[in-house]
Amino acid sequence: MREITIHDTLSGDVRPLETREPGRVGVYACGPTVYGRIHIGNARPFVVFSLLKRFLTSQGYEVTFVANVTDVNDKIYAAAGAAGVDSETLAADMTAHYIADTERLGLGRPDREPLASETIPEIVALIERLIERGYAYAADGDVYFAVRKYERYGELSHRRLEDVDQGEGKEGADRKRDPLDFALWKAHKPGEDTAWDAPWGRGRPGWHIECSAMAEALLGLDFEIHGGGSDLVFPHHENEMAQSRAAHGLPLARLWMHNGMVRLAEEKMSKSIGNTFLLHNALDAYGRDALIVYFCSGHYRQPIEFDDERLAAAAANVARFREVARKLVPGASPAWSAPLRDEFFTALAEDFNTPRALAAAFEWVREANRAGGDVGDADLREMLGVLALSNLLDVEDVSAPAEAQALLTEREAARAQRDWGRADAIRDELRDLGWEVRDGGAGPELIPVP
Ligand SMILES: [Zn+2]
Repeated sequence: MREITIHDTLSGDVRPLETREPGRVGVYACGPTVYGRIHIGNARPFVVFSLLKRFLTSQGYEVTFVANVTDVNDKIYAAAGAAGVDSETLAADMTAHYIADTERLGLGRPDREPLASETIPEIVALIERLIERGYAYAADGDVYFAVRKYERYGELSHRRLEDVDQGEGKEGADRKRDPLDFALWKAHKPGEDTAWDAPWGRGRPGWHIECSAMAEALLGLDFEIHGGGSDLVFPHHENEMAQSRAAHGLPLARLWMHNGMVRLAEEKMSKSIGNTFLLHNALDAYGRDALIVYFCSGHYRQPIEFDDERLAAAAANVARFREVARKLVPGASPAWSAPLRDEFFTALAEDFNTPRALAAAFEWVREANRAGGDVGDADLREMLGVLALSNLLDVEDVSAPAEAQALLTEREAARAQRDWGRADAIRDELRDLGWEVRDGGAGPELIPVP
């Protein structure tokens, strides 16, 4: 097995993937809080970790990929209140949209998609354990994590206690023993339309404890890869990590893998781009192929701009793959392919470098275009398959209608008589009918105009 390394936010280094059991990997990536339709920024971790799973699977690992849905959260109560609907209905609607929108990316589903609302018993048990071990305390129906009791606090986000702000504002400030503490459970408040019973009173969980409980329940402790956007490192992941380790004395995860943000630069943004920031609109506007290539064109750790230039480049790159497909034949690839295939997989093994892997695939395309005769597609198909793009090589078998076929025959006759003017006129006529003439090694072909 090829060694796989991944950048780990906790150590700050690129580290080897070391599994608990040989050949098995658990991946947990924080999913969306379902208070609105998801946008390109929410889609990025879905794409990164779905593709990571495909890559690990291609390397022989058995992967369990868990992506949760946060369906109990302050943002949901606020959005439901503003929309005049109950929060359960809003969360259920937005969960359905999230599933449908991400389904269109054609990456399959994560293996498990737990809902916070379905994990309440596990959440309550985890909080009870933290209280028993002295890391948490109840106060007027709320429960808080006592940050100073946990000596390793700050190790993931590399911050000192004096720089810690949980972002909870004034909420619970009078009940916290220390302003550093964060909420594990919030007592039921008027205006909140969901609540669950717990030993310290009716209420609902805080965001961070939801993920600890869901991850532990499905992957156990010390699992291989915990992922999410870099905006979640603090406080969300710092707190997840503190809760699980304080409760069990074991790390939650071995590698903490964070993707960079998607940036919308106002000055570089056309109006059309702004309108397509929601995933379903982007899928309508650019199609899933261009979006997958767009995401792969940036290294997952780096921020990526969402702008016309990058989307146009992605569309052009999709066209390059579709184009080369016309000269490929099923079967083994030529000898020049092996080093490029190797470079492709090495790039992904070295901190999941998708832009470097794509560059190897494009080099493959250049070689294929240079090569005479038919080129076996096997290696490129395998490479693109890892990025969920092998469909680009499936040349649609669209046959031209009889009218176009007749014009093509007429054009051939004109060319045979060296009547170039007539041949060109027929080519234009065909174009108007939606067919382009390609003069390939096997004679002229009619290709649908893109
Ligand atoms: Zn989370």
